[in-house]
Amino acid sequence: MIELHRNDRKKVFLPLSNESLVNNRYRKDTKLGEGTYGEVCKAVDILSNTFVALKKVKADQEEEGVPSTALREIAILRDISHPNIVKLLDVYNSEKHLYLIFEYCNTDLHKFLKNNPQDLSINFIRHASYQMLDALAFMHSHRILHRDIKPSNVLLSGDVVKLADFGLARSIGIPIKRYTVEVVTMWYRPPELIQKYNIYGSGIDIWGMGAVIAEMILHEPIFRGDSDIDQLHKIFDILGTPKPIDYPDLDYFTDKKVFDYFPKNNVEFRTKLKSIGEDGYSLLMKMFEYNPGKRISAREAMKDPFFIKN
Ligand code: AMP
Repeated sequence: MIELHRNDRKKVFLPLSNESLVNNRYRKDTKLGEGTYGEVCKAVDILSNTFVALKKVKADQEEEGVPSTALREIAILRDISHPNIVKLLDVYNSEKHLYLIFEYCNTDLHKFLKNNPQDLSINFIRHASYQMLDALAFMHSHRILHRDIKPSNVLLSGDVVKLADFGLARSIGIPIKRYTVEVVTMWYRPPELIQKYNIYGSGIDIWGMGAVIAEMILHEPIFRGDSDIDQLHKIFDILGTPKPIDYPDLDYFTDKKVFDYFPKNNVEFRTKLKSIGEDGYSLLMKMFEYNPGKRISAREAMKDPFFIKN
């Protein structure tokens, strides 16, 4: 029996089940991907005759047994239900493995962009962005941060978009505590995380979502750095360097060595981004606001003129 803790408030008990229970019920098909802590396969649920995604996690990967990322994902997803968040259908726990059974989606946004190199329509980008923001607004209103927003964690089934991979997600308390800064894949990390500022909030997901939306327009990651400092410089190259004078309350913006002035140099990227129209571009800039306290929230973003139909 595994006991899951979330914020020391809640415990979820997983009874030990037999490995053959899983093998008898689910017939494995193709491999879909490799997650942080295990392989994900497409499978047929023989009972319901539907496809599912089966995530198999080795229970002895870490000294303490099941990886904490898997436990986090279960604890968070068991509690929430939203049309734009992938559904966790079942969990099986044997001595050697933990199996997470998810609803199946056709692809993820990373694969989709690779397989569709032509420009996506503004309507598609608008529709997908709205759904992703809806999922984020829901999570943030339940005080949950995703902390790993990136295209491969956005699943697509037709024109329905679902956020997935909650292995780094966590609940936030009030008052805001100091959290680990080792979250969010580099290219989707906001400056406050790159600067190792360990008091952060929902703004980190908004920045990542901005980077995902930009990638739908550009067909490549907007800020593609290869180290912390290079990542910051890639950001400054497109958005301009934040001036300490504009951010007096942000002490992590006062390191002069890091913040040598970069003008908005990358005209090519900014011109491409503007192909989504004035409203879309302006929303992106609100998502890329340097000051996390002033960054637009998911709920506000959903009311942005970009989403108001003409
Ligand atoms: P994850 O460990 O959740 O990041 O999953 C790794 C990869 O497996 C993802 O990037 C997707 O390509 C694929 N995947 C995960 N969950 C699903 C699902 N429910 N439906 C289809 N593909 C999935």
